[in-house]
Formats: sequence, C-alpha cells, structure tokens
Amino acid sequence: LLLLSFSIATHAQKVKNQAKIKPRNEFISELMGKMTIDEKIAQLVQFTADGTVTGPKGGDNFIEEIKKGNVGSILNATGVKYTRELQKLNLENSRLKIPLLYGYDVIHGYRTIFPITLGESASWDPAMAELSSKVAAAEAAASGVHWTFAPMVDIARDPRWGRVSEGSGEDTYLGSRLAMARVKGFQGSDLGAINTILACTKHFAAYGAAEAGRDYNTVDMSERVLRETYLPPFKATVDAGVRTFMTSFNEISGVPATGNRFLLRDILKGEWKFNGFVVTDYTAINELIPHGFAQDAAHAGELSLNAGIDMDMVGGIYLKHLKTLLNQGKVKETDINDACKRILEAKYDLGLFEDPYRYNDEKREAATIYKKEHLDAALQVANKSMVLLKNNNILPLRREQKVAFVGPLISDEANIIGSWAATGDRTGYAVSVEEGVRKLITDKGKLTFDKGVEIVDTSKSQMQKALDNARQADVIVAVMGEFENMTGEAASRTDINLPGIQKEFLAELKKLGKPLVLVLMNGRPLTLSWENENMDAILEAWFPGTMGGDAIAQTLYGINNPGGKLPMTFPRTLGQVPVYYNHKNTGRPYLGAADPEQKYKSRYIDSDNSPLYPFGYGLSYTTFAYSNPKLSANTLTASGSIKVSVDVANTGNYDGEEVVQLYIQDKVGSVTRPVRELKGFNKVPLKKGEKKTVEFTITANDLKFYDINMQFVAEPGDFNVFVGGSSAAELTDKFVLVK
Ligand code: BGC
Repeated sequence: LLLLSFSIATHAQKVKNQAKIKPRNEFISELMGKMTIDEKIAQLVQFTADGTVTGPKGGDNFIEEIKKGNVGSILNATGVKYTRELQKLNLENSRLKIPLLYGYDVIHGYRTIFPITLGESASWDPAMAELSSKVAAAEAAASGVHWTFAPMVDIARDPRWGRVSEGSGEDTYLGSRLAMARVKGFQGSDLGAINTILACTKHFAAYGAAEAGRDYNTVDMSERVLRETYLPPFKATVDAGVRTFMTSFNEISGVPATGNRFLLRDILKGEWKFNGFVVTDYTAINELIPHGFAQDAAHAGELSLNAGIDMDMVGGIYLKHLKTLLNQGKVKETDINDACKRILEAKYDLGLFEDPYRYNDEKREAATIYKKEHLDAALQVANKSMVLLKNNNILPLRREQKVAFVGPLISDEANIIGSWAATGDRTGYAVSVEEGVRKLITDKGKLTFDKGVEIVDTSKSQMQKALDNARQADVIVAVMGEFENMTGEAASRTDINLPGIQKEFLAELKKLGKPLVLVLMNGRPLTLSWENENMDAILEAWFPGTMGGDAIAQTLYGINNPGGKLPMTFPRTLGQVPVYYNHKNTGRPYLGAADPEQKYKSRYIDSDNSPLYPFGYGLSYTTFAYSNPKLSANTLTASGSIKVSVDVANTGNYDGEEVVQLYIQDKVGSVTRPVRELKGFNKVPLKKGEKKTVEFTITANDLKFYDINMQFVAEPGDFNVFVGGSSAAELTDKFVLVK
C-alpha cells in the first residue's frame, strides 16, 4: 500500500510538471487581453488577513472582497491550510482564476528565528546573511508564503529610532553588501524553485533619517546625501535582481515617498531600470492626506499611481478610486496596465499559474519548519553575531568556576527572538540562556539563576536573593537589556540607557567585588559609559533568535570565540547623537588630546566627540597584530588599480576570526568628503599563531562621489588609506589619483 501511494504521488507530480504553460510574455499578454479594467485594478490591491480592510472601505471583510474578485494579494495569511482555503475561495470566485499572492514580514527567520538583522549584520559576513535568508525563504515557502517584506536596507544613524534593529546599521558599503546577500538568499537563482520567495527592498527611501529618530518623521536632505549615503543599498538590490520594492512612510524634502515620482519613476524605474513591482507601506496612500499632500482619498490614489506605485497595501484606495480616476482622465490606462503586468510577472515566475497550490503541501511544511539543519544555521549565525565590547581577561568562563547568573533575561524565551519575528514561537521554544548554560555545565552546584530585577519594573523585591547567591560565586554574569518591543516599528526612545533599575542592580552587584560580566540583549546601540567603566566584560548578544541561549552559553564558555564587529556606532551619551564614523570635518576640526588648545574647536564642553565604541569595533578572546602594510603603488590611474595588503597574525591563545577593514579618505574635493569611508572588508579565520596576508584592490570606481555638478566621478588628488580592525584604524598609507 505504501508503495502504491508513493507511485501515485510521483505520478501526480509528473502530471503537474507536464501542465506547462506558454512563455511569460505570451501568457501574460494573452491573459491581459482578456482582463477587464476592474480585473486589472484588482491585481493592484492587497488586503490584510488580520481583521478588516482599513481605509475608506473600513468595515468590509477581506473575505467578501476575495469573493468579489477584488484582491490580487493578501498580507499576513500564513500556513498551508489557511492560504489554501483563501486561494480556493479566490479561484472559485474569480472569472480568470488569477492566483492570490501571499506577502508576509519574514524579516530574520520565519519559524526558526535568526538574530535580528542588526545583530546578524554585526557578523560582517554576507554568507551568514545569505544563509539566514535562504532558510527563512525555505520555511516561509513551505508554509504558503510567496513574498517577504525584506530586506530592510535603511541606513540608520540615530539609535533613538526603534527600527535600527531591522537594518544593517549606519554604513552604505556594509549595508549594500549584506542587502545583496539577503536578496540572493530569499530569491535564490530560480524563483520557480519551491523553496524561494520574492524579496522586497524597503523602505524606499531615507526612512532611517527621520528627524530626531522619531518614527515616520520628516526627512529633509540634499540629493547628494540621498544618492551617496541612503540610496546605494537600494540600488545594490536592484543589481542583485530583487523583484519588489516597498515605499517608506516619511516625506523627503517635502514630498512623501509614496507620492514621489522622482524616486519611483525617475530613479527606480528609470535610471535603475527596475522591472519588478512597487508596493506601498501599510496604508501609505491614505497617509498622503494627513501628510498634507493629497486633498482626499481619490487625490491620494491619483498621486500614487502617477508617481509609480503598483500595489496599494491595505488602503483600499486603488480599488475604490482608480477606475473613476481613469474615466476622469486623471490616471493613464498604460500605467494601470504596466502595474498589472509587473505583478502578474511575479506570479508567473513563482509558478503560480502552473499550480496555484504549489506552496501548499502539508508534508513539506511539517518537514521544513524547525528542521535540524535550520536550527544549526540559526546557531551558527547567532554565534557569528556576538560582539565582545570589553574584556578584562575574565572571559571565557572556565567550567570549574562557580557562576551566578542574574538579570531579567536569563531564562527568557520570548524577548530573545526579537521584534518582527514572523511566526517564531515566543512561548517556550527558543533556547534561553539558562538552558544553554545548563547544557554545557551539568554540575548543578556550579550555577545559580536569579532574575534580581525586571526590565522596566522598579520593584526591588527579588534583588536580595540574587545578591546572596552572587556573593557565593566566583563570577557574576548579568543578562540584561531591552524588551524586544522597545525596538522595531513605532518604538523610538528618548533614552537609550539600560531600562528600569537594571543599572542600579549592577551597581549593587559591583559592590560584591567579584568579576562582573554583562551580557546584553537589545535592538539598538545603548549608552554604556558607566557599564564600560564598571564591568569586567561586556558581550553584545543583540536579540539572537531561537538558538540564542546556546550561542550565548557557547560564547561565554569559549566554545565560540566572538568575532562580530559593530555595524553602528555606540555613543558615549545620547547628546552626541547622531554620531557616525564617516562624518565630515569642520573648518575647526577637533583633534582630541593631540591638540591642547581646544577652545574654538567643534566640540562639546562636557564630552569628547569620539563615541564609546566606534563603528567596526569588536574584540576577540585572542589578539590580532597588523604588520607590513603595503600599497602596490602610490599612484592610481583612471583605468588602473592599486593593491593594498597587510599581514594579520593571531597572537593570542585562541583560534579566531578578524574582520579586516579598509577605509579611504578623499582629502580634497569639489565638495567636501567624509573623514573616511569603508571601501572593503574581509573576514579572516586565523588559527592560534597563524598569519595571513589580506589583500584589497582599489580602483578609481571606488573613489566616485557626486561632484559639485552632481556628476558621479572620481576626482584626481590625494587619498589616505586606513587598514585595521575598526573605523578607528590608524593612517596606513597614501596615494594619488592622476588623470
Ligand atoms: C511596516 C513594514 C511592513 C508592513 C507590513 C508596516 O507597518 O513599516 O516594514 O513590511 O507594515 O507588515
């Protein structure tokens, strides 16, 4: 019987594959030839499965809209069973049987959750970003999802902004490399493969530059800064073949992104030749009204379609108004056709016209979710995301030590998976720090676990017991941080200290005179000046995901040697924000201790300008020595190249990995240039005692910027080169770019 059902299954599979359809262009033009204008507009409409349609159609149930054939895409429907039901409803009720497209926020994992994106970015390892996206895509695709709203590539220089946790941090170059890897991971080389999904680059554009770090806030910037700092990661994903884009909520220099023809038609679809489709952010068309950009809903729809928006996320405006706008001559039929075609192409490439249920296989879903291979990958990426901020030789811990684990996050399995964690379980599936440690140290007498305090609660009722246990230990490890929902959307903070009375508790622990280690879980840079002064070691673990507790335990006990580097600057104090490494000089540059006459310098009277931990910074249990830096030439021609090499040796007692970083400064320009910019990095594994030569190539292409005439060129002149283990690397050498 088993054999029989197996051969039936393979037969069914064959029949499916034989149901070949016409090549894409032919198929879609034939289909569109049959579509009425209403049917075309329906493809431009996305409704959410959680609750009712918001916007002007408020109150209408999305099920009713599906039955009427009014929906092209659904947001937030997941699971093989549910997505099949809705698809069936759609196919049974629509004349031309065009399948629904399911979109979902699969940001850092679907069910198996990886570190938050900012944490993963601390790995400085595109292979890790690709791996996590690949696993996320496989799980989502096995669970009925066709499309993720990731990668989020917003450059973020203000840690008050809660959404810094979702991106790659402050740097354009690092962000671009990681963004490309994520697109590759989600989409693979073949969208028609059963384990890949559409990626969506968001939020276009400059969302991370919101004034004062307040979510959704105003952005006003020069086109030069926009193009040089904020747009390159978006462009990189277009080059990597990303199939969809999402607009942002903010306005840019007076024009909301969702009604921004310059961004969407001129740059994205024009200059960059993007041929996928653009979706708005959630109800962003409707929001053109409170922005003060559109008169009413119809006007908002008109502005959006004309600006280049293909799909209306949840707002219901395209559905209600596009046809009338067309009849009034306010929008063009060619634009509706173009939007419809882009969306149908995505559905075609996913294989949905061949088989609308190809993502709806219960067996595959069960076999894929939380697969061992996926959990192993989550552990690997979490290990790579750990950043050691300080270490007085107290880490790694030794197995024979008696350790008091304290802090609100020691046994936590909910916050550890971070915000935007898709369908990741927050109720007991993730490995907590306590579980991770207990797996490694089986002698119960060596360990105690006491929360001591809560994250924001000010009660001290649990503190005494924790202090009593800590007094008996050789080492104290405090696991502290933020609630996961203190970062993410609409989660900006005006204070980026450790919340609640956690610091007060640390001060009490400090009085015990024992070595004190702080492990942090948080979604943004925090202000840690006091902690840096008072702790013996600090490990930044971010929100490390489903396997986070294992990764933290393995790192504390030296099974994993931390090699992550900060993707975002950690300020000394909030008053320094925004503080980022690739700033400009002033006419009165502040040189720190090198210059005793500091009076009329660009500085604070109560703080140094430098951050606490610079971009690119991170320690290891071993030490690395840089020597013998060389440039193959000190003159670069427009078509030539220079090789930069440096020897890096592991001079400590552990095997480890070092992220070797290359920065360049263009000393004089027709417009001023940053003090340095990241132009290359290379993560090198080095065994204890091993030495390797690391090499980078510089060409004139790497030196381009928008000159005084907004031409993207490299200007001849002098350049400084910095190579090292962080953005604070010393000057290494110089070269001249000649005509
Ligand atoms: C967020 C997007 C997200 C979308 C769909 C919005 O509120 O800004 O990042 O993809 O919701 O859930």
